[in-house]
Amino acid sequence: MSVINTTPMSNLDEFKALGLSDDILEAIARKGFETPSAIQRLTIPHLLSEECDIIAQAQTGTGKTAAFGLPLVQLLSARRTVPQAIVLVPTRELALQVTQELQSFNTSELAIAPIYGGASIEEQLRRLRRGVDVVVGTPGRVLDHIRRTSLDLSQISHLVLDEADEMLNMGFIEDIESIMSAMTSPHRVLLFSATMPDRIRALAEGFMHDVEHLKVESQTLTTELTNQIYFEVREGDKLDALTRIIDVEPDFYGIVFSRTKVGVDEITSRLTERGYSAEGLHGDISQSVREKILGKFRARTVNILVATDVAARGIDISNLTHVINYSLPQDSESYVHRIGRTGRAGQQGTAITFISPSEMRQFGFLRRDIKADIKLETLPTPADVVAIKRNKIKEDLFQIVQSETYTECAPMAEELLESYSPEVVLSALLRLAFNNELSESNYPEIRSINVDRKGKSCIVMAIGARDGYDCRRLVKLLKRECGLADPEINHVKVMEDYSTATIPFERARDVVQMLNGLSDQGPIAEIREQVRGTKQGRAARNSRRIAKSQEKAVTKTDRKARSAGKRQAEGSHSSEYKAPKKGRDKASKPAKPASRKLSRREQKEQRRRNR
Ligand code: AMP
Repeated sequence: MSVINTTPMSNLDEFKALGLSDDILEAIARKGFETPSAIQRLTIPHLLSEECDIIAQAQTGTGKTAAFGLPLVQLLSARRTVPQAIVLVPTRELALQVTQELQSFNTSELAIAPIYGGASIEEQLRRLRRGVDVVVGTPGRVLDHIRRTSLDLSQISHLVLDEADEMLNMGFIEDIESIMSAMTSPHRVLLFSATMPDRIRALAEGFMHDVEHLKVESQTLTTELTNQIYFEVREGDKLDALTRIIDVEPDFYGIVFSRTKVGVDEITSRLTERGYSAEGLHGDISQSVREKILGKFRARTVNILVATDVAARGIDISNLTHVINYSLPQDSESYVHRIGRTGRAGQQGTAITFISPSEMRQFGFLRRDIKADIKLETLPTPADVVAIKRNKIKEDLFQIVQSETYTECAPMAEELLESYSPEVVLSALLRLAFNNELSESNYPEIRSINVDRKGKSCIVMAIGARDGYDCRRLVKLLKRECGLADPEINHVKVMEDYSTATIPFERARDVVQMLNGLSDQGPIAEIREQVRGTKQGRAARNSRRIAKSQEKAVTKTDRKARSAGKRQAEGSHSSEYKAPKKGRDKASKPAKPASRKLSRREQKEQRRRNR
């Protein structure tokens, strides 16, 4: 039996209660946020009403950009002269992402400029000369501008360090210290970090005053009855992935979760356009409409409910076959709440999560937090979907034949058979009934994310046999703490005081971050090298070479490698392999013209000229 809890739907009151202004609330409504995330609840009131510095422990994907961005936009007013706030981030991708997110609720019309390595410095100089209010930059390039005196930090009132531990991993800490020492005016420092290694604490002690520590406490929840799987799929392919899943599951009855109202509306209308029976539920939907929608869902006239986390609260409908996380939830607790809607009343359900490349990192944290086995699977192919549909039609046909419920159609069948052969009539009828649903071309191609992967990365860990590790124990640690699966861990080598292993390139950043989060004594892991190609032999060779070169140096900070990593992250070097300098110099010399035999006409012409 289903019970509907008639909790009043949320509006923006919760955001309002944090002290945000009406203008900002309008911008939040446009973005389709329903409730503040945990880190926003903690941070926003502090930023708006207190004066202290803040250290907030928050993982990526938990809404931390809005946690500092919304108050910043409210507190600052546009001057378009020298920057009033600066946000330091580890990578150019993040610089762009944060700039975009800030722009999306920039009701104060602040001039916001991303400043990162790899982009034209001239363009950035022009941008800074025109006047900016907020700079979002990577440390190396920001420092570069400070040294050129093109970036004036004398008026800074807010400094945000975003993903501070990641900046530490990438060797940016000295740059950050230099930037902080260049800031002479009184300012607040807001530091966000997923983990709190000692070096970050030391940074805080050296450069921050009257610090308030904010941390979202996580609880452990169980998720036993649910089969949990995930698919790696680009953001733009998620809807096609969803329809494939719905189509292979004849009795699909599930909730599709989106993080925003805008997302719910879009998914619902795209599903309905494609002929699916879907309804959307979010905070802007009135109580009476909500009741009607839930009524239809309970009666199964609608088998797909698209909802935000808030809207799904209080719906107690059991026996869902599926919960689909179209976008990742804000935190692990929400994930557990979402998927807890399947697998109720002792029935096993399936929770499916779509992970786009930009969600990989957050997903890594989530997997570690919930300690559940979420398996990576591949999407059904168009051929699989069509084969399943055909079988279903055959089964349904068999049922009708068995139950003899076709008799009233018999005279028409006889009539048709007078004009056409049975194959023709049947084929035409199938076409009429299913249109082009049984055609594989009906399912657009979903590009594999694998093609983006640049092989494997070798990670080096400052733990070895001396610390009681052998290969088995190390693999266990990587699985338990970093959520890696057995096949993802290769070429494990455990030396006396360090170890190496190769892992998938796209997981490397997370894994290093997670390992470093385990240590109280500074970073213990780093990405040593990206192993190009997928051939095992090459990977093994690289791994051996890396291991050799590590023998002496592992416990020391390898500045050279770090700064190379730094440059790459900031974008001053492309991630493509570059030939050794010597070779490149040679290659860049103008090539000698190749000697070739002259044609008869050319020989004649030469003789003429020589004469
Ligand atoms: P971030 O952790 O800042 O990278 O944010 C991750 C994603 O969550 C972004 O797409 C944000 O727009 C979105 N987001 C931030 N706050 C909220 C919220 N309160 N409700 C729904 N989505 C949010």
